[in-house]
Amino acid sequence: MALKERLNKNIEAKAWYGELPVESLYTVGIAGEKFFRAIKDQGIFLGTKCHNCDMVYVPPKIYCERCLGKLDEYIEVAQCGSLESFTCVHIGLDGRKLEEPIFIGLIRLDGASTCLVHKLGEITVEELCMGMRVCAELKPKAKREGGINDILYFKPTKE
Ligand SMILES: [Zn+2]
Repeated sequence: MALKERLNKNIEAKAWYGELPVESLYTVGIAGEKFFRAIKDQGIFLGTKCHNCDMVYVPPKIYCERCLGKLDEYIEVAQCGSLESFTCVHIGLDGRKLEEPIFIGLIRLDGASTCLVHKLGEITVEELCMGMRVCAELKPKAKREGGINDILYFKPTKE
């Protein structure tokens, strides 16, 4: 079958096995740089505020998703917030079953309009509930690298 032939049945498609060398470089962008630098250097969380829409984006964005206005006002938000949703993960990124499941949460920090996705720690599945209060547990300052893993996890508060 020549490459120019049109396939009319998907069972006619053939697989090609091989490797393509691909390199990529992910950058966090202007807002991401400020966000992670603030966590690393000061242990604080920053968001950007849109006065037009009364929204605070965390992690910060440089444009508002609603009005597309430029956002350049960075404000500090709390390290604690509410657990809006969560899931329990049993399979690792390598496709293998994890020895212990991990919990992933959708966290809305106090003062933010949007949510962060991150791991939950120091909690059991029986304790998890939507709306519960959680706070960030950061790495010790000397070990922070300016990335998302500077936040170890979010853990329940005693509030
Ligand atoms: Zn806006």
